[in-house]
Amino acid sequence: MLDQITIQEFSQTLSQPLIMPLEPGYDEARSVWNGMVDKRPAMIAKCTNVDDIKKCVNFAQSHNLLVSIKGGGHNVAGKAVCHDGLMIHLSQMNAVIVDPVKRTVRVESGATIGELDKETQKFGLATPVGIVSKTGIAGLTLGGGNGYLARKHGLTIDNLLSVELVTANGDFISANETENPDLFWAIRGGGGNFGVVTSFEFKLHEIGPEIMAAQIFYPIEDAKKVFTFYRDFTSNAADELAGYALIVRIPPADPFPEAFQGKTAIALLVGYAGSLDAGKAALAPLENFGNPILRVIMPMPYLALQTSFDQSAPNGIRNYWKAHYMDDLTDEAIDVLVNHTRHFPGAFSAVGLEPFGGAITRVEENATAFPQRSASYILGIFSGWIEPENDEKNINWTRELYNKMTPFASGGAYSNYLDHDDSDKVSASFGSNYSRLQDVKSKYDPNNFFKLNQNIIPKPDL
Ligand SMILES: Cc1cc2nc3c(=O)[nH]c(=O)nc-3n(C[C@H](O)[C@H](O)[C@H](O)COP(=O)(O)OP(=O)(O)OC[C@H]3O[C@@H](n4cnc5c(N)ncnc54)[C@H](O)[C@@H]3O)c2cc1C
Repeated sequence: MLDQITIQEFSQTLSQPLIMPLEPGYDEARSVWNGMVDKRPAMIAKCTNVDDIKKCVNFAQSHNLLVSIKGGGHNVAGKAVCHDGLMIHLSQMNAVIVDPVKRTVRVESGATIGELDKETQKFGLATPVGIVSKTGIAGLTLGGGNGYLARKHGLTIDNLLSVELVTANGDFISANETENPDLFWAIRGGGGNFGVVTSFEFKLHEIGPEIMAAQIFYPIEDAKKVFTFYRDFTSNAADELAGYALIVRIPPADPFPEAFQGKTAIALLVGYAGSLDAGKAALAPLENFGNPILRVIMPMPYLALQTSFDQSAPNGIRNYWKAHYMDDLTDEAIDVLVNHTRHFPGAFSAVGLEPFGGAITRVEENATAFPQRSASYILGIFSGWIEPENDEKNINWTRELYNKMTPFASGGAYSNYLDHDDSDKVSASFGSNYSRLQDVKSKYDPNNFFKLNQNIIPKPDL
């Protein structure tokens, strides 16, 4: 237990005073996206620069404090927050500097992907990120990063050029292909195991400002037909085409017809990362398929597409997730999925298939720490609800579907989708790269100082 004077003295060395329990701002700062997570750090440091982070690491090391790192706070398992320890809070380190000539961007690690997209789009550029704008760039990148642009341009990590970070012994270093290349390899998929990343540098690509997109909602009774169509539509698609098929609840708002608001439906959400003309042609089969509740197919600002799912995933609702990689989508798998989702408990759940493949698969399994390159889809079972009394119902429903879909899965796990009870899947998420990751962990963090993450256990003998 630390005495008040020690804490006070440390607080005075930081750019902003520590936020202590019961102080204004404490509850907001410790909160994370998943409302199921309720942890109380002993102190929260809102860092504004690298020096603050170094001081936090050194202080935590000398006082044997548990450390958590909050980027965007969207990790479903709540790894950004700890009981008792020191939370390193990064949201104020959110600068985004675009170099439109070199087509690169340097982004501080507390930025959200929305903040990044907004700056890069000023130049008609983007790097592949996720599909909900409040997600943190840090956690997303360190675990891989899949979204509308990944089939064309690779995962977020495949576009990473360099990082700067504070290591477990308080050093501030860079990692890229030539400087600390072992660390650069490990950081691309190995999570927050190796230090506090302070900034990332990414490659940029020409995207938008408008891209062709489709958002089509069908009655749940058509789910089998829609999944089957989705499989055929996406199976030989160009890399530019990324499609999601998700069972969701229709929002209680315009432009959805009143009769369907609040009802379960199946949505096809498609983006085309190429020219508008090519996109129009590629999306043409969607124009006549089925009898949708709502069909929107048109050029859309890339920024609008990147925020269109935000309302469906608000901060603070209760969440429980499971996910599988899938190589293919058999008729039998569709039947199991459709039958189970007929009884759909969560008002904020989204269950179905995310696109994978394309450029993602053309990176060797051991070229980065992210090994899962060959799947065609990720099956996400993202359950979201409000009432604590419905925890058990939603969790059981999620687990049941996950278990029923296991025979159709291709193995492994996506570390960014692992929940608090998935620690048995961490090494599987790193696959054949796990042993090499342990070597890098042993070199940069031999005492496992950074352990609130998808934790890689250092090798004892190095
Ligand atoms: C609504 C929603 C939508 C999502 N959509 C997508 C998607 O489209 N595609 C996709 O691939 N994933 C998606 N995800 C998953 C997302 O990639 C992970 O939840 C990711 O961990 C979020 O990063 P964060 O910075 O917000 O999380 P945080 O909870 O802040 O951090 C997550 C982990 O990263 C570590 N970390 C954070 N910052 C740093 C840092 N600076 N240095 C070192 N370690 C750090 C933390 O310690 C923690 O272990 C989504 C998640 C949510 C909740």
